[in-house]
Amino acid sequence: MKKRILALLIAVGLVFTGCTSEAVPTSSAGSIESSEVPSELSSESTAEASSEESSAASSEAPTISSEAEEASASASAESSSESTYESGVLAQRSAADFDLSSIPEYSGKPYVAVNDNVPFFGSSELTTKAFESYSSLDSLGRCGVAYACVGKEIMPTEKRGEIGSVKPSGWNQKKYSNVDGKYLWNRCHLIGYQLSAENANPKNLITGTRYLNVEGMLPFENMTADYVKETGNHVLYRVTPIFSGNNLVADGVLMEAESVEDSGDGVLFNVFVYNVQPDIAIDYADGSSESLIGSAITGNESSASKAETSPAAETQTFAPAAETQTSAPAEAQSTSSTYIANTNTMKFHYPSCSSVDQMNPSNKMEFSGSRDELISQGYVPCKRCNP
Ligand SMILES: [Zn+2]
Repeated sequence: MKKRILALLIAVGLVFTGCTSEAVPTSSAGSIESSEVPSELSSESTAEASSEESSAASSEAPTISSEAEEASASASAESSSESTYESGVLAQRSAADFDLSSIPEYSGKPYVAVNDNVPFFGSSELTTKAFESYSSLDSLGRCGVAYACVGKEIMPTEKRGEIGSVKPSGWNQKKYSNVDGKYLWNRCHLIGYQLSAENANPKNLITGTRYLNVEGMLPFENMTADYVKETGNHVLYRVTPIFSGNNLVADGVLMEAESVEDSGDGVLFNVFVYNVQPDIAIDYADGSSESLIGSAITGNESSASKAETSPAAETQTFAPAAETQTSAPAEAQSTSSTYIANTNTMKFHYPSCSSVDQMNPSNKMEFSGSRDELISQGYVPCKRCNP
């Protein structure tokens, strides 16, 4: 099947500043125009955000290499991920038209458009009645399709709790100096907390790289959240983790979304987001990994696993001195504290930080829990207040 994978206009309104954590989508409802997909977006411009919380202007249009596309076009039609789809009715709907073998190898962009960026929803699925549903874990403990009609009705109104107790399949944590935030693996929500208010739901959390979480999925989540908040409309939203064979870690996630009341004028996308981390080699069978350009931060693995296995908020964990970059006081590293996280920039602060006052209220998330937990979700500490 000849397939054109086109540049994503979704990139309009998104900000990419390379591999740092400063990927700051600037989309608002007014700037979301994802219903059209241009055939070429060749220019690329990047600007630094002018301040930490700034959503300064810059845009980069992801384009897909046609060579990679052609190379994959001849790949076997047999998808090794098909067994994943047999677990649920919802899964079968999107599986029918998605074939992992049609996805080109990762080549430097966090995601590629699928099906010309049009989701696989049937017209009868479009509803303005908010709902959310999650597949049961399969026999290997893996998540399946997460499906929702996102509306203000199901968005969070309360503080989120802790998710540190959830260990998604393939959770094999490791730290690297060349990963922003150090931890390779994040507990990655399939349907983001800001959309679903689903917190420690094991059916909604997968082992995902920080790159998948922040560079790949977050811009789409933010776009959707902004649109719903500003219009009050609904967005049909489905995220399918794609596993090959019996791998415990997904190759990536298929993200589909369509705004309902305006038939996709506000939000429309269908993308495969790669579960990769630049310069890190990952074994998707079990989540083990190694750096391609340097070595892992040895001596800190114990702290990583210690943090991960902390059974409760009461358990105190301390970052090892050698790894601590900041001059945060010791008490700040104990597990339970209140932080203000920015769901747009993926930074977190002490409530007293001056950055908090400048934060867009709709991006503000009050978090009570451990610092390690926020970091394991992909948040990085503010450099100003050093939480
Ligand atoms: Zn701060």
